[in-house]
Amino acid sequence: MTTAKRIDGKAKAAELAQSITVETAALLAEHGIKPGLAVVIIGEDPASQVYVRNKKRTAESCGFHSVQHTLEADVLQADVLTLIDDLNADKSIHGILVQLPLPGHLDEQRITQAIDPSKDVDGFHFINIGKLTAGLTDDAFVPCTPAGCMLMIQDEMGSDLSGKNAVVIGRSNIVGKPMASLLLQANATVTITHSRTKNLARVVAGADIVVAAVGRPEMVKRDWVKPGAVVIDVGINRVEKTVDGEKKMGLTGDVDYNDVSSVASAITPVPGGVGPMTITMLMANTLRSARLAAGLEG
Ligand code: NAD
Repeated sequence: MTTAKRIDGKAKAAELAQSITVETAALLAEHGIKPGLAVVIIGEDPASQVYVRNKKRTAESCGFHSVQHTLEADVLQADVLTLIDDLNADKSIHGILVQLPLPGHLDEQRITQAIDPSKDVDGFHFINIGKLTAGLTDDAFVPCTPAGCMLMIQDEMGSDLSGKNAVVIGRSNIVGKPMASLLLQANATVTITHSRTKNLARVVAGADIVVAAVGRPEMVKRDWVKPGAVVIDVGINRVEKTVDGEKKMGLTGDVDYNDVSSVASAITPVPGGVGPMTITMLMANTLRSARLAAGLEG
Protein backbone atom coordinates (compact mmCIF):
# COMPACT_ATOMS: atom_id res chain seq x y z
CA MET A 1 0.00 0.00 0.00
CA THR A 2 1.35 3.44 -0.94
CA THR A 3 0.97 6.54 1.15
CA ALA A 4 0.23 9.80 -0.58
CA LYS A 5 2.47 12.80 -0.22
CA ARG A 6 1.01 15.21 2.31
CA ILE A 7 0.80 18.61 0.62
CA ASP A 8 1.91 21.04 3.32
CA GLY A 9 -0.26 24.11 2.68
CA LYS A 10 0.90 25.72 5.89
CA ALA A 11 4.57 25.60 4.84
CA LYS A 12 3.82 26.75 1.30
CA ALA A 13 1.67 29.61 2.61
CA ALA A 14 4.46 30.69 5.00
CA GLU A 15 6.98 30.66 2.14
CA LEU A 16 4.67 32.79 -0.03
CA ALA A 17 3.94 35.17 2.85
CA GLN A 18 7.68 35.63 3.27
CA SER A 19 8.12 36.75 -0.33
CA ILE A 20 5.04 39.03 -0.03
CA THR A 21 6.66 40.61 3.05
CA VAL A 22 9.89 41.26 1.14
CA GLU A 23 7.99 42.78 -1.83
CA THR A 24 5.88 44.90 0.53
CA ALA A 25 9.00 46.33 2.19
CA ALA A 26 10.45 47.12 -1.26
CA LEU A 27 7.21 48.84 -2.35
CA LEU A 28 7.35 51.05 0.75
CA ALA A 29 11.07 51.79 0.43
CA GLU A 30 11.04 52.51 -3.30
CA HIS A 31 7.60 54.09 -3.81
CA GLY A 32 6.35 55.04 -0.33
CA ILE A 33 3.31 52.77 -0.74
CA LYS A 34 1.95 50.41 1.92
CA PRO A 35 -0.70 47.91 0.79
CA GLY A 36 -3.89 48.57 2.77
CA LEU A 37 -6.46 45.87 3.56
CA ALA A 38 -9.84 46.68 5.13
CA VAL A 39 -11.83 43.80 6.58
CA VAL A 40 -15.50 44.34 7.45
CA ILE A 41 -17.09 41.88 9.86
CA ILE A 42 -20.77 42.03 10.73
CA GLY A 43 -22.24 40.18 13.70
CA GLU A 44 -20.89 37.52 16.02
CA ASP A 45 -20.39 34.37 13.91
CA PRO A 46 -17.59 32.57 15.82
CA ALA A 47 -15.94 31.00 12.72
CA SER A 48 -15.93 34.41 10.99
CA GLN A 49 -14.27 35.98 14.04
CA VAL A 50 -11.44 33.42 13.79
CA TYR A 51 -11.00 33.95 10.02
CA VAL A 52 -10.94 37.73 10.39
CA ARG A 53 -8.43 37.57 13.25
CA ASN A 54 -6.14 35.36 11.13
CA LYS A 55 -6.43 37.66 8.11
CA LYS A 56 -5.61 40.73 10.21
CA ARG A 57 -2.66 39.01 11.86
CA THR A 58 -1.24 37.87 8.49
CA ALA A 59 -1.76 41.32 6.93
CA GLU A 60 0.14 42.94 9.79
CA SER A 61 2.97 40.41 9.63
CA CYS A 62 3.33 41.08 5.87
CA GLY A 63 3.76 44.79 6.71
CA PHE A 64 0.35 45.93 5.41
CA HIS A 65 -1.79 48.78 6.66
CA SER A 66 -4.57 46.66 8.20
CA VAL A 67 -7.98 48.00 9.20
CA GLN A 68 -10.90 46.16 10.73
CA HIS A 69 -14.49 47.45 10.85
CA THR A 70 -16.68 45.54 13.27
CA LEU A 71 -20.39 46.22 12.80
CA GLU A 72 -23.34 45.15 14.94
CA ALA A 73 -25.42 42.20 13.68
CA ASP A 74 -28.46 44.51 13.23
CA VAL A 75 -26.61 47.21 11.26
CA LEU A 76 -28.65 48.87 8.50
CA GLN A 77 -27.79 47.91 4.95
CA ALA A 78 -27.48 51.62 4.05
CA ASP A 79 -24.78 52.01 6.71
CA VAL A 80 -22.81 49.06 5.33
CA LEU A 81 -23.02 50.55 1.82
CA THR A 82 -21.86 53.94 3.13
CA LEU A 83 -18.85 52.29 4.77
CA ILE A 84 -18.00 50.51 1.50
CA ASP A 85 -18.28 53.82 -0.40
CA ASP A 86 -15.87 55.40 2.07
CA LEU A 87 -13.41 52.52 1.71
CA ASN A 88 -13.72 52.66 -2.10
CA ALA A 89 -12.68 56.32 -1.93
CA ASP A 90 -9.89 55.82 0.64
CA LYS A 91 -6.51 55.95 -1.13
CA SER A 92 -4.77 54.12 1.72
CA ILE A 93 -6.98 51.05 1.15
CA HIS A 94 -6.23 48.71 -1.77
CA GLY A 95 -8.28 45.68 -0.74
CA ILE A 96 -11.78 45.49 0.77
CA LEU A 97 -13.20 42.27 2.14
CA VAL A 98 -16.62 41.78 3.67
CA GLN A 99 -16.54 38.56 5.67
CA LEU A 100 -19.37 36.18 4.71
CA PRO A 101 -21.89 34.91 5.70
CA LEU A 102 -23.86 38.08 6.46
CA PRO A 103 -26.83 38.35 8.85
CA GLY A 104 -30.06 37.41 7.06
CA HIS A 105 -31.50 40.95 6.68
CA LEU A 106 -28.52 42.09 4.56
CA ASP A 107 -28.41 41.63 0.78
CA GLU A 108 -25.12 39.82 0.15
CA GLN A 109 -25.23 40.56 -3.57
CA ARG A 110 -25.80 44.31 -3.14
CA ILE A 111 -22.98 44.51 -0.64
CA THR A 112 -20.34 42.47 -2.52
CA GLN A 113 -21.17 44.26 -5.80
CA ALA A 114 -20.77 47.67 -4.11
CA ILE A 115 -17.03 47.06 -3.68
CA ASP A 116 -14.91 48.77 -6.35
CA PRO A 117 -13.76 45.92 -8.65
CA SER A 118 -10.20 47.27 -8.45
CA LYS A 119 -10.28 46.72 -4.65
CA ASP A 120 -12.23 43.44 -4.78
CA VAL A 121 -9.43 41.22 -3.46
CA ASP A 122 -11.93 38.41 -2.72
CA GLY A 123 -12.78 38.25 -6.44
CA PHE A 124 -16.57 38.23 -5.90
CA HIS A 125 -17.45 41.25 -8.08
CA PHE A 126 -19.14 40.36 -11.38
CA ILE A 127 -16.37 42.19 -13.28
CA ASN A 128 -13.75 39.87 -11.77
CA ILE A 129 -15.95 36.78 -12.14
CA GLY A 130 -16.49 37.73 -15.80
CA LYS A 131 -12.78 38.18 -16.47
CA LEU A 132 -11.98 34.83 -14.85
CA THR A 133 -14.72 33.06 -16.80
CA ALA A 134 -13.53 34.69 -20.04
CA GLY A 135 -10.05 33.29 -19.39
CA LEU A 136 -8.50 36.67 -18.51
CA THR A 137 -7.03 35.15 -15.39
CA ASP A 138 -4.06 37.51 -15.22
CA ASP A 139 -6.34 40.54 -15.32
CA ALA A 140 -8.86 39.37 -12.70
CA PHE A 141 -8.79 39.18 -8.94
CA VAL A 142 -9.26 35.44 -8.54
CA PRO A 143 -11.10 34.20 -5.41
CA CYS A 144 -8.48 33.28 -2.82
CA THR A 145 -9.44 29.68 -2.04
CA PRO A 146 -9.43 28.34 -5.61
CA ALA A 147 -6.32 30.42 -6.39
CA GLY A 148 -4.52 28.71 -3.49
CA CYS A 149 -5.77 25.26 -4.57
CA MET A 150 -4.51 25.91 -8.08
CA LEU A 151 -1.00 26.76 -6.88
CA MET A 152 -0.86 23.48 -4.96
CA ILE A 153 -2.20 21.47 -7.93
CA GLN A 154 0.32 23.04 -10.32
CA ASP A 155 3.16 22.42 -7.85
CA GLU A 156 2.32 18.71 -8.10
CA MET A 157 1.40 18.42 -11.79
CA GLY A 158 3.01 21.35 -13.59
CA SER A 159 1.29 24.43 -15.00
CA ASP A 160 -0.19 22.73 -18.08
CA LEU A 161 -2.92 20.25 -17.15
CA SER A 162 -3.59 19.12 -20.76
CA GLY A 163 -5.03 15.63 -20.88
CA LYS A 164 -5.88 15.57 -17.16
CA ASN A 165 -9.41 14.98 -15.92
CA ALA A 166 -10.42 17.20 -13.02
CA VAL A 167 -13.56 16.73 -10.93
CA VAL A 168 -14.71 19.57 -8.69
CA ILE A 169 -17.24 18.54 -6.05
CA GLY A 170 -19.40 21.56 -5.17
CA ARG A 171 -20.64 24.41 -7.38
CA SER A 172 -20.53 27.44 -5.09
CA ASN A 173 -19.62 30.87 -6.46
CA ILE A 174 -16.83 31.13 -3.89
CA VAL A 175 -15.06 27.84 -4.52
CA GLY A 176 -16.51 25.32 -7.01
CA LYS A 177 -17.23 27.52 -10.03
CA PRO A 178 -14.04 29.65 -9.97
CA MET A 179 -12.02 26.47 -9.29
CA ALA A 180 -13.47 24.92 -12.44
CA SER A 181 -12.62 28.07 -14.46
CA LEU A 182 -9.01 27.98 -13.29
CA LEU A 183 -8.64 24.27 -14.10
CA LEU A 184 -10.17 24.82 -17.53
CA GLN A 185 -7.82 27.74 -18.17
CA ALA A 186 -4.90 25.37 -17.41
CA ASN A 187 -6.28 22.97 -20.09
CA ALA A 188 -7.74 20.30 -17.79
CA THR A 189 -10.95 18.54 -18.81
CA VAL A 190 -13.29 19.65 -16.06
CA THR A 191 -16.45 18.17 -14.55
CA ILE A 192 -18.38 20.09 -11.91
CA THR A 193 -20.45 17.91 -9.61
CA HIS A 194 -22.93 18.85 -6.89
CA SER A 195 -25.74 17.64 -4.66
CA ARG A 196 -27.88 16.63 -7.67
CA THR A 197 -25.12 14.64 -9.41
CA LYS A 198 -25.91 10.97 -9.90
CA ASN A 199 -23.29 8.30 -9.21
CA LEU A 200 -20.87 10.83 -7.75
CA ALA A 201 -18.37 8.16 -6.72
CA ARG A 202 -18.19 6.88 -10.28
CA VAL A 203 -17.64 10.38 -11.70
CA VAL A 204 -14.89 11.09 -9.17
CA ALA A 205 -13.22 7.77 -9.99
CA GLY A 206 -12.29 9.12 -13.45
CA ALA A 207 -10.40 12.09 -12.04
CA ASP A 208 -6.66 12.75 -12.03
CA ILE A 209 -7.43 15.82 -9.90
CA VAL A 210 -10.18 15.91 -7.26
CA VAL A 211 -11.17 19.13 -5.52
CA ALA A 212 -13.74 18.60 -2.76
CA ALA A 213 -15.64 21.72 -1.62
CA VAL A 214 -18.85 20.43 -0.09
CA GLY A 215 -18.99 20.79 3.68
CA ARG A 216 -19.63 17.10 4.49
CA PRO A 217 -17.14 15.48 6.83
CA GLU A 218 -14.98 12.75 5.23
CA MET A 219 -17.43 12.15 2.38
CA VAL A 220 -14.80 11.19 -0.21
CA LYS A 221 -13.57 7.65 0.41
CA ARG A 222 -10.71 5.53 -0.89
CA ASP A 223 -12.81 3.59 -3.40
CA TRP A 224 -13.97 6.86 -5.06
CA VAL A 225 -10.42 7.86 -5.96
CA LYS A 226 -8.32 6.81 -8.94
CA PRO A 227 -4.89 5.52 -7.90
CA GLY A 228 -2.34 8.32 -8.26
CA ALA A 229 -4.88 11.18 -8.23
CA VAL A 230 -4.06 14.53 -6.61
CA VAL A 231 -6.72 15.32 -4.00
CA ILE A 232 -7.39 18.83 -2.70
CA ASP A 233 -9.68 19.06 0.31
CA VAL A 234 -11.33 22.46 0.74
CA GLY A 235 -13.93 21.36 3.30
CA ILE A 236 -13.83 22.66 6.86
CA ASN A 237 -16.13 20.70 9.14
CA ARG A 238 -16.34 21.01 12.89
CA VAL A 239 -16.66 17.51 14.36
CA GLU A 240 -16.20 15.68 17.63
CA LYS A 241 -12.91 13.74 17.61
CA THR A 242 -11.48 11.28 20.07
CA VAL A 243 -7.86 12.14 20.91
CA ASP A 244 -6.09 9.88 23.47
CA GLY A 245 -9.46 8.57 24.63
CA GLU A 246 -10.78 12.10 25.18
CA LYS A 247 -13.61 13.66 23.14
CA LYS A 248 -12.74 17.06 21.69
CA MET A 249 -14.07 19.34 18.97
CA GLY A 250 -11.79 19.44 15.97
CA LEU A 251 -11.70 20.19 12.25
CA THR A 252 -11.93 17.68 9.46
CA GLY A 253 -12.21 17.95 5.70
CA ASP A 254 -14.57 16.56 3.06
CA VAL A 255 -12.09 13.77 2.32
CA ASP A 256 -11.39 10.78 4.53
CA TYR A 257 -7.67 11.63 4.75
CA ASN A 258 -6.28 8.35 6.10
CA ASP A 259 -8.41 6.23 3.79
CA VAL A 260 -7.70 8.24 0.61
CA SER A 261 -3.98 8.59 1.43
CA SER A 262 -3.59 4.93 0.54
CA VAL A 263 -4.53 5.55 -3.13
CA ALA A 264 -3.85 9.21 -3.96
CA SER A 265 -0.40 10.44 -5.03
CA ALA A 266 -0.76 13.68 -3.09
CA ILE A 267 -3.39 15.07 -0.73
CA THR A 268 -3.97 18.19 1.37
CA PRO A 269 -4.70 17.76 5.10
CA VAL A 270 -7.37 19.61 7.10
CA PRO A 271 -6.28 21.66 8.92
CA GLY A 272 -2.96 22.76 7.37
CA GLY A 273 -3.82 22.52 3.65
CA VAL A 274 -6.12 24.86 1.76
CA GLY A 275 -6.96 27.16 4.73
CA PRO A 276 -3.53 28.80 5.18
CA MET A 277 -3.14 29.15 1.40
CA THR A 278 -6.46 31.02 1.20
CA ILE A 279 -5.26 33.70 3.62
CA THR A 280 -1.93 34.11 1.84
CA MET A 281 -3.64 34.51 -1.54
CA LEU A 282 -5.66 37.36 -0.02
CA MET A 283 -2.37 39.07 0.82
CA ALA A 284 -1.05 38.39 -2.70
CA ASN A 285 -4.20 39.97 -4.21
CA THR A 286 -3.93 43.02 -1.92
CA LEU A 287 -0.26 43.56 -2.77
CA ARG A 288 -1.11 43.27 -6.46
CA SER A 289 -3.94 45.78 -6.06
CA ALA A 290 -1.55 48.26 -4.40
CA ARG A 291 0.97 47.82 -7.23
CA LEU A 292 -1.77 48.27 -9.84
CA ALA A 293 -3.04 51.44 -8.12
CA ALA A 294 0.51 52.82 -8.27
CA GLY A 295 0.80 52.00 -11.98
CA LEU A 296 3.52 49.43 -11.29
CA GLU A 297 1.71 46.52 -12.96
CA GLY A 298 0.02 46.44 -16.33
P1 NAD B 1 -21.58 25.84 -0.22
O1 NAD B 1 -22.45 25.33 0.87
O2 NAD B 1 -21.82 27.17 -0.82
O3 NAD B 1 -21.55 24.78 -1.41
C1 NAD B 1 -21.49 23.41 -1.18
C2 NAD B 1 -21.62 22.69 -2.49
O4 NAD B 1 -21.58 21.28 -2.21
C3 NAD B 1 -22.93 22.95 -3.22
O5 NAD B 1 -22.65 23.29 -4.56
C4 NAD B 1 -23.70 21.63 -3.16
O6 NAD B 1 -24.40 21.35 -4.35
C5 NAD B 1 -22.58 20.63 -2.96
N1 NAD B 1 -23.03 19.44 -2.23
C6 NAD B 1 -23.74 19.40 -1.07
N2 NAD B 1 -23.97 18.12 -0.72
C7 NAD B 1 -23.41 17.36 -1.67
C8 NAD B 1 -23.33 15.97 -1.89
N3 NAD B 1 -23.87 15.11 -1.03
N4 NAD B 1 -22.69 15.53 -2.98
C9 NAD B 1 -22.13 16.38 -3.85
N5 NAD B 1 -22.17 17.71 -3.70
C10 NAD B 1 -22.81 18.19 -2.62
O7 NAD B 1 -20.10 25.73 0.38
P2 NAD B 1 -18.71 26.45 -0.03
O8 NAD B 1 -18.74 27.86 0.42
O9 NAD B 1 -18.34 26.13 -1.42
O10 NAD B 1 -17.75 25.66 0.96
C11 NAD B 1 -17.58 24.25 0.87
C12 NAD B 1 -16.72 23.78 2.02
O11 NAD B 1 -15.45 24.42 1.91
C13 NAD B 1 -17.26 24.14 3.41
O12 NAD B 1 -16.87 23.12 4.30
C14 NAD B 1 -16.50 25.42 3.74
O13 NAD B 1 -16.36 25.61 5.13
C15 NAD B 1 -15.17 25.13 3.11
N6 NAD B 1 -14.41 26.33 2.72
C16 NAD B 1 -13.10 26.34 3.06
C17 NAD B 1 -12.31 27.41 2.70
C18 NAD B 1 -10.86 27.40 3.06
O14 NAD B 1 -10.22 28.41 3.03
N7 NAD B 1 -10.31 26.24 3.40
C19 NAD B 1 -12.85 28.48 2.00
C20 NAD B 1 -14.21 28.43 1.62
C21 NAD B 1 -14.98 27.33 1.98
